[in-house]
Amino acid sequence: MVRVRFAPSPTGPLHIGGVRTALYNYLLARKLGGTLILRIEDTDQTRFVAGAEAYIIESLRWLGIEFDEGQGVGGPHAPYRQSERLQIYGQYAQKLIDEGKAYYAFDTADELDAMRERMQNAGVDPAYNGITRLQMKNSLTLPASQVQEMLQNKAAHVIRVKVPLKEEIRFKDAVRDWVTVHSSALDDKVLMKSDGMPTYHLANIVDDHLMEITHVIRGEEWLPSAPLHVLLYRLFGWDAPQFAHLPLLLKPEGNGKLSKRDGDLGDFPVFPLQWQDPTTGKIARGFREDGYLPEALTNFLAFLGWNPGTEQELFSVQELIEAFSLDRIHRAGARFDVAKAKWYNQQYLKHKSDADLAQFVAHPDALKIVRLMKDRVTFPAEMLTDAPFLTTAPTDYEKAVAETKWNDDAKKVIAGFVANLNAHHGEFSAEAAKEILGASAEQAGIKQGRILQALRLAVTGLGHGPDLMLTMEILGKTETIQRLERALTHL
Ligand code: GLU
Repeated sequence: MVRVRFAPSPTGPLHIGGVRTALYNYLLARKLGGTLILRIEDTDQTRFVAGAEAYIIESLRWLGIEFDEGQGVGGPHAPYRQSERLQIYGQYAQKLIDEGKAYYAFDTADELDAMRERMQNAGVDPAYNGITRLQMKNSLTLPASQVQEMLQNKAAHVIRVKVPLKEEIRFKDAVRDWVTVHSSALDDKVLMKSDGMPTYHLANIVDDHLMEITHVIRGEEWLPSAPLHVLLYRLFGWDAPQFAHLPLLLKPEGNGKLSKRDGDLGDFPVFPLQWQDPTTGKIARGFREDGYLPEALTNFLAFLGWNPGTEQELFSVQELIEAFSLDRIHRAGARFDVAKAKWYNQQYLKHKSDADLAQFVAHPDALKIVRLMKDRVTFPAEMLTDAPFLTTAPTDYEKAVAETKWNDDAKKVIAGFVANLNAHHGEFSAEAAKEILGASAEQAGIKQGRILQALRLAVTGLGHGPDLMLTMEILGKTETIQRLERALTHL
C-alpha cells in the first residue's frame, strides 16, 4: 500500500517548488491507488508565520490536489500538526537514550563556540561528532550521578544522536540512484532542543514511520539530510522509506536556484496565491491572481523536472496520473521558463467553455466578449484590457493606417454604411452588420475588402484587432454610428 506525504513548514507562503513537490506526491498516490497525507511540520517556533498553514491548504485546494488524510482532513494518525504531537517525539528520543544511541549534551553556547574556534584554528571543519563529543559536556563524558543531578535540576540540555563510528550509510534514491556516505561525515545532530521541542530530523522520521510512509518525495535541498535520516531509521530498527529527491527549480536563465527576487525582476509570480506578509504588509503576487488557470499551472509544474518520454505536452490531470512515474524524474535542475507557463495558460484558456470564461469578464456582454477575444489572450483579464475600444471610443487613430487606408473610397462606403445603419430597424447583430456593409459597398461600387481596415480604424482607432462585425455588435448600433460619424468628421 503506497502512502506518501506532503510535509510543509508554515514559515511563509508556499514556494512554487513546494507546490511541485505536493503535485508529484499527489500524482504518485493517485497512480498507484495510494494515500496522500498532509502533515504540518511546525516544530520550529522561531520560524512560525501566522496564516501560512491556511495559505498552504488553500493553494493546494485551488490546484485540485486533494489529501486523503492529514491536517484539515483528519485520519487514523491524527493529529497531523507536529506541534500537537510533542509527547510522541519525547518518547522516541528517550528510547534512543535508553539504548545508548543518543545522549544528553549540556554544553553552553559559549562552550560550543570555543570548541568551533579550537577546531577552526586546527584547520578542521568544526563538528560535534565522534571525536569532539569526548571533549564536551555530555552524558558520555560526565559521571552518571552528575548527569542525573543536572537533569533533576533541569539544567539546560539537548539530546544528540550518537552517530556510530565507521559505518557506511547507503540508500537508493529513485532520482539520484545510490547515495553512499560514511558515518564519519555526519555530526551528532540535535534531536531534541533545549526548549523540549524536537528538531525537524527527529519529528520527520518518527512521523514518517508512524504514519507508515512508503515514499518520501521532497526537494533536493533535503538530500544532504537523507543519510542522517537513513541512520536514524537504522538506530530505531525501522525500515526506511523509498526516497526521491526532486531536482531544484532554477532561475529562468538556468543558473542558480529560483528565488522570490527572480520573480520580482522577471515580472512573474513564484507563489501559487497572492500573499500578504503579516508583519510588513507587503504583497507578493500569486499565479491565481495573475490569471493562471489551475489546470494550466498543474500541467506546467508537472513538466518542471519530469517528462512522459513523448512529444505530448498537454496533459489533463487524469493523463498526468496515468503517465507519471518516479523513474522519469530528471536529475538536472529544471529551468523555470515563464514563457512556457504562459503558453500553457493560453492553451487551456482556448479549451475552456465560453460560459466558464465569461465569469472572468465583468461586462453585460461577457459571453460575446469571450467569443471575440478568447483565442487572442494569455490571461482571462486580457479579454477586457486587450480590447479597450469595447468600453472607450477611440480619440486617436493609428497614424500609418490612417495615411494609407483612409481614402475617398473608404469615406464613401462608410458614409453609406452609416445611412443604411440608420435605416435598419431589425435586430443589430454581427450578421446584420456584415450584410449592411456588403450592400453599402455594392451601392458605392467599391470592393468591401478595400475599405475594411479603414472601417476598423474608425470603430476602434486601430489597424488590427478581433472580429470587426462582432465588435460592432457588442458596441451596439448607436455607438457604432457615433464612432463612424466622428471618424468621418475628424479623420
Ligand atoms: N518540513 C520540510 C519542508 O518544509 C519537509 C521536508 C520533507 O519532506 O522531509 O520542506
